[in-house]
Amino acid sequence: MTSETLPLLFEISKPPARATHLPESDVPHVAMDANFAASEPLPLPSVGYLDLIRHYTRLAQRNFSVDGNFYPLGSCTMKANPKVNEWAAGLSGFANLHPHSDPADCQGALELLYHLRIFLAEIAGLDEVSLQPCAGAHGEWTSLKVIRAYFADHGQPQRRVVLAPDTAHGTNPASCAMCGANVVTIKSLPNGLTDLEDLKRHLNDQTAAVMVTNPNTVGKFDAHIAEMAKLIHDAGAFLYLDGANMNAILGITRPGDFGADIMHFNTHKTFSTPHGCGGPGAGPIAVRKELAPYLPVPQVVKNADGSYSLDTNRPKAIGKVRSFVGQFGVLLRAYTYIRACGPDGLRNVSETAILCANYLAQKLKHVYPLPFGPKGDAPMAADPCAHEFITVPQEIIDAGVSIMDLAKGLIDRGFHPPTVHFPVANCLMIEPTETESLDTLEAFIAAMLELADLAKHDPQQLKDAPERTPVRRLDEVLAARKPILKAK
Ligand SMILES: *Cc1c(COP(=O)(O)O)cnc(C)c1O
Repeated sequence: MTSETLPLLFEISKPPARATHLPESDVPHVAMDANFAASEPLPLPSVGYLDLIRHYTRLAQRNFSVDGNFYPLGSCTMKANPKVNEWAAGLSGFANLHPHSDPADCQGALELLYHLRIFLAEIAGLDEVSLQPCAGAHGEWTSLKVIRAYFADHGQPQRRVVLAPDTAHGTNPASCAMCGANVVTIKSLPNGLTDLEDLKRHLNDQTAAVMVTNPNTVGKFDAHIAEMAKLIHDAGAFLYLDGANMNAILGITRPGDFGADIMHFNTHKTFSTPHGCGGPGAGPIAVRKELAPYLPVPQVVKNADGSYSLDTNRPKAIGKVRSFVGQFGVLLRAYTYIRACGPDGLRNVSETAILCANYLAQKLKHVYPLPFGPKGDAPMAADPCAHEFITVPQEIIDAGVSIMDLAKGLIDRGFHPPTVHFPVANCLMIEPTETESLDTLEAFIAAMLELADLAKHDPQQLKDAPERTPVRRLDEVLAARKPILKAK
């Protein structure tokens, strides 16, 4: 990265330079209503071909990406996105398929979606999958609609309360609110696990579901989950699993086996599809068979004669939640990843992700303590984390260096900062994923230790960070509230 400011395309405009040369129009001229015609040419930038390419290449080089740098953003599972996924998505039979194609003309694409449904149901340990929702949050919302439809159909429309632990991701209460469900917060114990007594106090005949993340957002697998599921089922409610942390349990355990009734996947986290700005593209949901009749339409199905079709004739379905069959390009990448890994490979993904997280935690915990264990000198094996861990570096904070200062210091060292201040104040949530080399993990450890040292001996350097980025420290509140979105 360089600190030089890039010019805008408008600033390098040099008419009559052109990047394209369109052929003579062979379409008959049509007279246009003068009211709609521009009276003078639009002031569009006029830039030569190579200058245009360089402009966008330089801009792209300023993106922080998994292809460029280590990105240990906890809860987000920023693993490598294998290029074979892009090869598959780029095959012309898929890439040029029109969403309105007749099912008879796109049997291959439907077969792929059908198999993905089956794979995801197997990974979830549940009965049926809908590929429709287009993000994890959208999967949550769709699932709550499905649960709502189930209770309306079973004479219990009063079940409108959703219980969620205080460490829940922000999308959990937001999806509930969008769905008109009341959210009631359940306390967590000091060890980060759900307080079962508090859960019992809140369960009653108004409860529709309990939303849990397991491993939870403090990076711990809650071994009481089956017990929790029993309490929830005895109260007549459903256990919803937020599947954002599936990268820790693939092939090791299955949500359906530990009592979950309904869940979402985040393909961009667990199954190596690209993350996007606020719209990562696919958040399939899996359900037990009691809930299956309410899944959205269309559902891709296999017919008795071996052909595939889109079933819209599901009278109890909640309706459509997305256009066409869902985000095909993203689902196709997730399918490719699952096929490339195979069952043993998927288990290996999770085991390696857990190993990497525990390695980092162990190497850092003398300076970056782990509030959710293990304590002091206890070995990690006594109380391991799952695929991510949380540190609250209280001594560093007490010395006047904030979590944000540490994050900016990491940016200067070429690392994307971990998640900050979630799910508890003053924390870093670190998730290395399974795809990094030992050298990269060691380089990150060295950077984190260097920052801790600077916090003691030269805190000003961290206050001044980042120094090597095109834009220095932003006023983040102002940037979010009053963004400048256009050139002056
Ligand atoms: C990422 C995440 C979500 C939301 O998923 P999106 O696909 O970003 O909408 C929900 N819960 C947890 C725990 C997450 O980490």
